[in-house]
Amino acid sequence: FTRVQRTFATSSEGSHFDESCGRNTCEITLRDAQLLKNQCLIGGEFVPALKEDGQGLFDVFNPATRALITKVSNGGKHTTRLAIEKANESFKSWKKLTATERSSFLRKWFDLIIQHSEDLGKIMTIEQGKPLPEAIGEVLYGASFVEFFAEEAKRMYGDIIPAGAKTRALVIPEPVGVCGLVTPWNFPCAMLTRKAAPALAAGCTVICKPSELTPLSALALGELGVRAGLPPGVFNIVTGFHAQPISDELMSHPAMRKISFTGSTAVGKKLLSQSASTVKKMSLELGGLAPFIVMEDANLDDAVSGLVACKFRNNGQTCISANRVYVHSKVYDKFAERVVEKVKTLCVGDGLEPGVHLGPLINEKAIDKVERHVKDAISKGAKVMIGGSRHRLGGLFFEPTVLANVTDSMMMSCEETFGPVIGLFQFDTEEEVLWRSNHTNYGLASYLYTNDLARAWRMAESLECGMVGLNEAMISTCAVPFGGIKESGIGREGSKYGLAEYVHLKYLLMGSI
Ligand code: NAD
Repeated sequence: FTRVQRTFATSSEGSHFDESCGRNTCEITLRDAQLLKNQCLIGGEFVPALKEDGQGLFDVFNPATRALITKVSNGGKHTTRLAIEKANESFKSWKKLTATERSSFLRKWFDLIIQHSEDLGKIMTIEQGKPLPEAIGEVLYGASFVEFFAEEAKRMYGDIIPAGAKTRALVIPEPVGVCGLVTPWNFPCAMLTRKAAPALAAGCTVICKPSELTPLSALALGELGVRAGLPPGVFNIVTGFHAQPISDELMSHPAMRKISFTGSTAVGKKLLSQSASTVKKMSLELGGLAPFIVMEDANLDDAVSGLVACKFRNNGQTCISANRVYVHSKVYDKFAERVVEKVKTLCVGDGLEPGVHLGPLINEKAIDKVERHVKDAISKGAKVMIGGSRHRLGGLFFEPTVLANVTDSMMMSCEETFGPVIGLFQFDTEEEVLWRSNHTNYGLASYLYTNDLARAWRMAESLECGMVGLNEAMISTCAVPFGGIKESGIGREGSKYGLAEYVHLKYLLMGSI
């Protein structure tokens, strides 16, 4: 691949980027340069971090070139407090709108996201690294939550419960209040809309805290929210390099009634314990360690295609990525060969180049972890079938890798590799593979390939997790409840259950009838 020096198209209409970055290092041509924002969105306006927080800026890099893209407002405690105040003020009127009115704001936001999907995809590719078609795919997936919850807003029904002869009992759903939405870097658009759309639909107002590695996608969504006419203060974004002061303020402020977090299990646990002091409602979408089970009766072509699609999407940086691939010993060799043939066709490079399947990893820490897992496996007897090293492109690129003879004593069997590495484990019986699959504190997704219907039911019911892909590896859509059990999280996103996370129930008993 030719790697070209890219320079941000310093917009003809004047982008809001701080020219003091000095280095024009990242060129993308956008139809709408006004989507590039580098300040916090508070009370309907893009504003710098408050002076009490130092008014500083932090760097955002392109992981493919490691060039500086821009500098973004470094918000902290005070900026967050201001956003909470604005969100709390606007909650009073936003919750009083009719469901149809809130729905129409969301519908406008959805239309704008679709209209700008290519630009949003480009912004995502330069800050996150995933190939452009995949980034645009994420934008469309992210938009689908906005469309879905624009409709679902109108279906926030209550109940009438049989009561005494002279009484009537009603259950009324109400918005929980101001919500803090903390999102990761791996899906900078979809993780935000998956939270913000149901929250706004329910009548809540929000403060989003995107990852410091990928704030630009969130800010572009914020700009489109402003254009959609969302009233000031309903949708706020606080960017910052240090998560701690922002999240401490979100977690301790009494006006914050709900936190929805997607990220690592370690941080999720910390937030959960912090939430106790003000008893906030919590949703946690945390890490996974998905088993991908191939039984001896499986359709191997389907299983191979499913595995490669599931594993290499987003370069393996996905919480539901197949992390432990258990293959029945009767089909192990044949399966391994076919996987390697397929992996040979994958192309690594800058996500802006056409034909690229795998971009860079997000940062040094991520590539070091992938390398550590691979070296650990090799040192304990794993065999490299393809890949196994950093890519010749250098930087943050890693070769798509397949390791055979992986065992339960290796690092990759007990923690997310979060990279382009397939580890093939071997097993002999159904009982054995179920035990090994469930022998973890995680419980997000599992995948099972078998053509035996009775076995499919039996095993799917025995897998300890929130989601099972049965002869299918692409399990995410806006219409289904996404989420995990055990240390993979609490709560669900998407579907009618996703709306319920932003609602509390008020019971009303009317007497003297
Ligand atoms: P992370 O936990 O490091 O960061 C997530 C968010 O929390 C970011 O906005 C970050 O700035 C913030 N954060 C970091 N440290 C914090 C702290 N001490 N206090 C408060 N906030 C803090 O996770 P990540 O590396 O951005 O994302 C990868 C992880 O997310 C993986 O474990 C992955 O499995 C998980 N994930 C889960 C889902 C899901 O739906 N279950 C989806 C995507 C990613």
